[in-house]
Amino acid sequence: MILLDGKVLAQKIKEDIKKNIENLVSKGYRPPTLSVILVGDNPASQIYVNKKIKDCQEVGINSKPFFLPRDITQLELEELIGSLNGDDEVDGILVQLPLPSHINTLEVIEYINPKKDVDGFHPENVGKLATGRDDGILPCTPYGIMRLLQEYNIDTFGKDVVIVGASNIVGKPMALLFLKDEKSTVTICHKNTRDLKSHTSKADILVVATGVPHLIKADMVKKGAVVVDVGINRIDGKIVGDVDFENVKEKVYAITPVPGGVGPMTVAMLLQNTFDIYKRKFTS
Ligand code: NDP
Repeated sequence: MILLDGKVLAQKIKEDIKKNIENLVSKGYRPPTLSVILVGDNPASQIYVNKKIKDCQEVGINSKPFFLPRDITQLELEELIGSLNGDDEVDGILVQLPLPSHINTLEVIEYINPKKDVDGFHPENVGKLATGRDDGILPCTPYGIMRLLQEYNIDTFGKDVVIVGASNIVGKPMALLFLKDEKSTVTICHKNTRDLKSHTSKADILVVATGVPHLIKADMVKKGAVVVDVGINRIDGKIVGDVDFENVKEKVYAITPVPGGVGPMTVAMLLQNTFDIYKRKFTS
């Protein structure tokens, strides 16, 4: 069984980005800047945001954090985004999700300049992905999963791929990416899928992103499959995935651990997207 180690690959990617930034800064260019907006005090979001800020610092990206009160209005939030959209020194804008329920998340995402949309959630970037264009920004988690599979030479061309979970940030863009270059045959499952096992057990590559701890058991996975576990669930202070790793690992060709699989790749791709936006400004 091959362990798809996202931590090791993410570190390699971060070192590459760091070297590239040092090189450009030594030639007199300013460092890249990522604005990170957190609304409210959701503890999990605070952890994610602090990790992103720390990783930015590690590679030489300036992070410009905005910690905003939970009761901020839609208009106030959009005004801040508007000012960052117009600021030439800001390369990327990230709004940590979820937002409080009084805020319309889709409208906030649409308000971000698509060229600064480091998360790749803006409809323009989603549309570019859906229509097979290469000039958009890819969402970090699916992008990171593709990089991880490539690193381990996992052939995806024409494979049967099953994705469990159909969210806008993971499941749907993941399906589009597998369709785009890899020409995989993709099935997306969700809560209304009848007989989940009948789908998952046919998958050459199974990607699971549901937020249901240990949803995928060994008898739901084909022997020799590649399994990617996106889930992050906290149980008794421990982080577990959506896949019953201990039992599933016995029958697969390759599998991501949780933690240490998809999570670090997501942050690495955020840094990559920020760097790529910044570099494009100076080289195009
Ligand atoms: P959402 O809650 O937005 O979406 C969950 C999806 O899973 C929905 O499509 C839902 O179906 C489906 N689903 C839920 N229960 C079942 C079930 N029993 N059977 C089949 N499908 C089911 O979650 P996200 O996509 O945002 O995140 C999913 C998980 O991935 C979470 O644990 C999250 O923390 C983690 N995550 C990890 C990241 C990382 O970097 N490692 C990044 C982003 C998320 P329906 O559409 O019908 O509601």
